[in-house]
Amino acid sequence: MTRLFLSISKLKGVGKKRFELYQKLGITTPYDLLYYFPRTYRDYRNPTPVFEIPLDASAVVRVTITGKQRPVFSRNGTQLYRLTASDEDGTGLEILIFNNVYAYQALEVGRTYTMSGKIGGTLLDRQIHAPQVHREEDHPIEAVYPQITGLTSAMVRTNIRECLSILEETPFETLPPSILEEFSLMPLADALRAVHLPEDLEETERARRRLAFEEMLRLQIGLRLLKKRGSKESQYPMDPATDLTPYYQSLPFTLTDAQKRAVEEICSDLSGESPMNRLLQGDVGSGKTAVAAAACYFCVQNGCQCALMAPTEILAGQHFQTLSGFLAPLGVEVCLLTGSLTQKQKRECHERIADGTAQVIVGTHAVMQKAVTYQKLGLVITDEQHRFGVAQRTALAEKGGVPHKLVMSATPIPRTLALMVYGDLDVSVLDSLPSGRKPVKTYAVTGKLRERAVGFLIGELKQGRQAYIVCPAIEEGETDLRAVTVYAEQMREGMLREWRTGILHGQMSAQEKDETMEQFRAHEIDVLICTTVVEVGVDVPNATIMMIEDAERFGLSQLHQLRGRVGRGSHQSHCILITEHANEENKQRLRLLSSTTDGFQVAEADLQLRGPGDFFGSMQHGLPPLKLASLTDGTMLHDVQHAADRILEQDPLLTHEEHHALYMDIVRLFARNGENGLN
Ligand code: ADP
Ligand code: MG
Repeated sequence: MTRLFLSISKLKGVGKKRFELYQKLGITTPYDLLYYFPRTYRDYRNPTPVFEIPLDASAVVRVTITGKQRPVFSRNGTQLYRLTASDEDGTGLEILIFNNVYAYQALEVGRTYTMSGKIGGTLLDRQIHAPQVHREEDHPIEAVYPQITGLTSAMVRTNIRECLSILEETPFETLPPSILEEFSLMPLADALRAVHLPEDLEETERARRRLAFEEMLRLQIGLRLLKKRGSKESQYPMDPATDLTPYYQSLPFTLTDAQKRAVEEICSDLSGESPMNRLLQGDVGSGKTAVAAAACYFCVQNGCQCALMAPTEILAGQHFQTLSGFLAPLGVEVCLLTGSLTQKQKRECHERIADGTAQVIVGTHAVMQKAVTYQKLGLVITDEQHRFGVAQRTALAEKGGVPHKLVMSATPIPRTLALMVYGDLDVSVLDSLPSGRKPVKTYAVTGKLRERAVGFLIGELKQGRQAYIVCPAIEEGETDLRAVTVYAEQMREGMLREWRTGILHGQMSAQEKDETMEQFRAHEIDVLICTTVVEVGVDVPNATIMMIEDAERFGLSQLHQLRGRVGRGSHQSHCILITEHANEENKQRLRLLSSTTDGFQVAEADLQLRGPGDFFGSMQHGLPPLKLASLTDGTMLHDVQHAADRILEQDPLLTHEEHHALYMDIVRLFARNGENGLN
């Protein structure tokens, strides 16, 4: 076996201390180190004229030493050496060296040096601090690695050079030749050399592309293998001829075409040969619950139980009510299992689940706990999937046999991205809203118009409607509490004093939250002042105003989610975004939200404006982090899909020799992210 996979401690200069530093970075082998990428490059071939360099930036300059000054030794023992120099244009530059007499002595008056360092001083009297002098024998372009205490870029460079020579001795490639050729990708060894020891930066760019491609491909194939892993053979095959007519007839509405299509896709999966792994994606209000209920009905008719898992108690409660509403008249036993039940209630619930009396079990994470034994769990539905990472979605599979899985997400994700993020799932999309819905009218206003906005809100209250006012969580924890409570207090004593207000925030117990939400639903509260805990799923059709304070603090997708809390009934709804910091960028973002109610369009814009990291923000897509690739690179995503198709067509389990390295990389990738056991 190549030395690439031996311990990193075998490299020269890697003692206990450096070994530990590397280990903290997740680097344990020379191979890992080769995938530790430079933060930037220092190009000694193109020095910047001194007068062009902004202050406080790092720069490469080429200067001739014009004089040396006497060293200064300060009381505290610091030695300061100063030299004067000037560049080609004659612009002066003072060189400052601290505590390093050798560096000072090495510079000769009259000679010219290329050096890099941080530029300080003033606009007229520039200084370079502790410069690194470039020697002829050094590489013309130098890789600069992330700054880590105790681990300088120079150390990393030296270690990586050794790794590169190991790689040269024993050639190694992670991608099959046909893929390299088809997508014009550089061979691995060349790419790694070009990234760490670049000759020219264009080549480095091509190298990065190859490595980004590989990174994305690994992730994509990993997810697809994950999907396949569950797909041995369905343990709960269902009858495709199961009649859904009673369900359709009991609904108070007819399903939209999109809903019907989704139901068909799901039922076809349920009666297929392998377990279902499907994502039901639909904008807020698109009617995912009715689709989920159809799936439950289908399952129950086939003698199986279904569990529906929601991220919060409020949502679980709401789903319970909705599902009972749809299914109980048809004789289906629906039960609610949440953390806040009493011990006795829980026990009873567990018994009914175990003996099969309970057919549809709705709850929070409680439904998946060890204590819960199902008689025959055929389908697990998770709502608002973005709150559960890939790790949780795979954990679900382990609950007694392999049940079918349906995940529901109200976070529209641009299509290209969905293919990556949900590479382990089939996707059904609800791309239209039930008819008769009036799109929510959205306005972005500055704080100056707050009074008018509240006045407008009160106008709606007078018509018997209800409203939400959302305050941002300034920081996690107490601050968020204070912000809402203080705000609510002001409102109660001020403009809303004649109305019934309620508060909802993350610091309240599940029971308190439920009670408040229940009061709001029962219209015992007119205005609900809340944080984003209200963001997910809650359905109060009589609420027609969503007012959001400090709207610029939220991501577009999140604002869109919040807006989705209104517009659920027959009345015209309004969303008022208030912002105190109306800079151009914020205005542009908020204007976009006013101009469309299409969640996919919002998501696309959000992605473009903020990049994938922020796009997902706290909603944890659950994927391993990407070092080089960008999920916004549509072309590459597209190519990667093709490459993944090609590879898996030929070799579905990656057992071929030429795919071995790729397979091992994937295993490592997922193991590192708590996804043990791809095999
Ligand atoms: P979401 O996709 O956001 O979870 P819900 O399932 O909560 O949406 O549905 C939103 C509202 O639309 C609910 O009040 C539901 O009863 C209603 N609804 C669902 N499907 C239809 C339909 N086909 N026609 C009319 N109303 C519908
Ligand atoms: Mg919902």
